[in-house]
Order: sequence, then C-alpha cells, then structure tokens
Amino acid sequence: MSNGEQLAAELWKIATERLRTMVPDNIYKQWFLNMQPLRLDGACLVLGVADDFFAEWVERSYSTQIAEALSNIAGHDYGHKFEEGFAPQIPSEPVEQVKAEEDKAVDTMPETLSNISTPAKSNRVYSSYTFDNFVVGEENRYAYTAARTAAEKPGLFNPLYIYGNTGIGKTHLLHAVAHEVQKNNPNMVVRYATCEEILNCFVESLKSHQYGSFRSQLRDVDMLLVDDIHVLGSKGQLQEQFFNAFNALYSEGKQIILTSDKRPSEISGLEARLISRFEQGVTTEIYAPGLEVRIAILRGMQQNFMMRFDDEILEFIASRISSNVRRLQGALMQLLTRVSLDQDMPITIERVEYILHSVFEEEFTSQQITVDDIQKKVAEYFNLRVSDLLSNKRPKSIAEPRMVAMYLARKLTDSSFPQIGSAFGRNHATIMNAWTKVPELCAKDEELRRAVSLLERQLKS
Ligand code: ADP
Ligand code: MG
Repeated sequence: MSNGEQLAAELWKIATERLRTMVPDNIYKQWFLNMQPLRLDGACLVLGVADDFFAEWVERSYSTQIAEALSNIAGHDYGHKFEEGFAPQIPSEPVEQVKAEEDKAVDTMPETLSNISTPAKSNRVYSSYTFDNFVVGEENRYAYTAARTAAEKPGLFNPLYIYGNTGIGKTHLLHAVAHEVQKNNPNMVVRYATCEEILNCFVESLKSHQYGSFRSQLRDVDMLLVDDIHVLGSKGQLQEQFFNAFNALYSEGKQIILTSDKRPSEISGLEARLISRFEQGVTTEIYAPGLEVRIAILRGMQQNFMMRFDDEILEFIASRISSNVRRLQGALMQLLTRVSLDQDMPITIERVEYILHSVFEEEFTSQQITVDDIQKKVAEYFNLRVSDLLSNKRPKSIAEPRMVAMYLARKLTDSSFPQIGSAFGRNHATIMNAWTKVPELCAKDEELRRAVSLLERQLKS
C-alpha cells in the first residue's frame, strides 16, 4: 500500500467511525461499508463505489454527513469524490467469486487496452450485472437469449444490436456477456466501452498524435462491446474509424455487440454504410419488463439488504413504476432509507405512497403518451410510414393500422375525439367509428388482438 493509499484508508476509518454515529446502523452498512477509500487527490478523498447510481444516490442523500465526517481531522477538512467500478464488499459469495475472476481477467489484459479510458473504469464490468442476476420475461427474453448466444457462440449473431428505452437492462446484458466470456475463456480479450469513452479516447489520440494506439485498442480485441452507440451520430471522423475497425473485426468473425436507444436507421447523422453494417446481423428491441419481472427484480434487490418488505408493498411499487428499472430500484432504495429512519412506524401502502410520491410523479410524467408517439409506433409496427396513416389510402393493410392508431390514441391519451380527429386529418366521427370497430375486429382476429395489446404495452413502457 502506498503512502497515499494508507492515508486515505486511515482518514476513511476515522470518517466511518463518525458516520456510524450519525446515521442508522443499516444505512451505515448499506452505504458506507460499501465504499472503498482509494487515494487522496490533494485534500480530496477518492472513494470507490459500484456504479454511478450508487454515487449519485449517496451524494444526494448523505453528502452533508460525509463532509462533516471528513472535517477537522487533525486540523484539516477533506473533500470527497467518487470513482465508479468498484464492487461492493458485502454481497454474498457468488458475486465475490465473479469479482475474483474479473480481477484476474483485468490483470491479464494487455497493457495497451487499459488506457482507452480512465483505468478504473475501462475493462471493468460491474460484478452484479450477470446473466444470473438478470430476470427474464417476455419483454426482454429475446435480447437476453441473443446476448447469451453471443457470449456462448461468438460470431454467430454478428453484430448483435440491442436497442430500447433507457433503464431497462441494455448495459446489464452487455456486462453479462463480458462476465460470461471472461469466465469461460479467460484468454479472450473482451473490450467493453461506452461510445462516449471511445469518443474521448479518440479526441485524446488526436491531441497527442497517438493515433495508432487508438486504432489498435479498437481492433486488437477478440470481442468488442460498445454501449450507447447512438453517440456516434454526427461524429464524422469517429464514424470513419469505427467503420474500419468494425470491418476488420467482422471479417475475422469477431463478435461485436452494440446497444443503443434507437434503431440504426433512426440515429440521426449516422452514415448509411454504418447503418447497413449495424443491421446486417441481429437487431433486437428490448422492452421494459412486465409486472412479474419487476416484482422479481425488487425481491432480488432486497436480498442485499437487511430490511424486508412484504410482497404487498413490493407489488405496489412495481405496479406504479413500469417504464424504467433504474427508477424502480431507486424507489426501493429511497423507501429503505426513509423507513429505516423510523423503524417503529408500520409500513403501510399509504406510507409508501407518501414517501415515494415524487418518484411516482416522475414516472407518471415520463409516461405521458402523445398522439404523435402512437402514430409513429403503430406505423413502425406495421412497416408503414406515418404519412400512410394520415393518407386516404384504403387497402386493409393501411386502413386497419390507421384504425388501431386512432383507437389507441383515444385509449391512451386524454385527447378528445375531435382533437384526435384533427391529428389524423379526419373528423371526430371517423375516430368514434374506430373506437367501436377495433374491439370488434380484435374479437374475430387473434393476430390483430395480439398486435394491439403488444402496441399498448410498448407505448405504456
Ligand atoms: P440501460 O442500459 O438499458 O439504460 P441498465 O442496464 O443500466 O439499463 O439497467 C438499469 C438498472 O436496472 C441496472 O441496475 C440493471 O441491473 C437493472 N435491470 C434492468 N433490467 C433488469 C432485469 N431484467 N433483471 C435485473 N435487473 C435489471
Ligand atoms: Mg445503458
């Protein structure tokens, strides 16, 4: 241990002793024992935490307490900041085991690979983001299976492109692939990076004229996992580089997995040749998980904590937060924290509702569906353009989706029949007709019924 590390460790020991008296015991264990003193940056103590979620949460909830605990230590006040990518120390054995393997894998990474981004983050995979910890349901099964296949039979689905809304497991799956591959083939060089990190690294390489090393970092790998590839949009120079690296890896049959918040063709400013490369393998959408999965995720999360809520409470939270697993997890954390401050009070639905009021509100606002969203989604689903839905074209293949869109607009928004009519360039009677006709059609046509219910679910997520 270097001097700086030792000092950091000692400071943190003092600070945690103080923190222990400032916060309830379980909060202390949940949060503060899960941080690692890394080093001192001047008068700033750098604390290693699992991920940005953890860091954000602690900063929001306990920054004052930490500042106080770090003040006036031998006459000095110390600041603090977080560094992500450090596995918590509490979790049970299997996680530790993965971590050990992960450390081994990181250690054996060629030197050149560690400098593509900040060393602490690069090639680090969150130890809890494994396939085992991923709860599978109808909405994410395909993405899950595709990711597993890519991990087990690299090159079979190439590239694998997973897209979907935020907070529903894309990054988790990408890390899970890295875990799995490193576990089974410790010698394989798996490179995980966010597109943002690659961009930063590229910019750095231009500044320092170390261009060759940037290139080799993308190419001298056996598997390339790039998170949030939509960041590539409108970055012309980087697109060129990425295109070349992609071709080189692809031609050698090396697995490439990309995640994004949209389809390749919807990324604005993405060159056509990249769109076609990205689409040439397997492209799959991942959806927000259904209620059962959400409840299971909360149950799984609880296992890391000392406090347990009744199923009724978990079901209540899961039923109110459906669009974003990150938000769902945040809600449980918030509840754990608040409830532990006052352990004698019974935990009732009313109390939970009160405590999580603002999270529920945030969820509600994020879920406001517009007629535009509906038109876009329905058109996409039936392989049409929005302009087809707005046209007067009569064939069933267009007229039926058009009615479905009108029906869903009435069902899922607060708009009135006339308002929806004007959004479709029709009168209110046409919309009223669709409103009664669609359920009749669905009763006779199983395929249509399934399409309508899937669309409804997707729009709500
Ligand atoms: P995205 O990359 O799609 O924005 P993440 O992969 O970061 O989302 O997921 C957000 C959080 O939700 C992470 O903590 C992740 O572990 C968790 N999560 C998402 N889906 C699942 C799932 N099916 N099972 C368990 N945890 C999940
Ligand atoms: Mg992500």
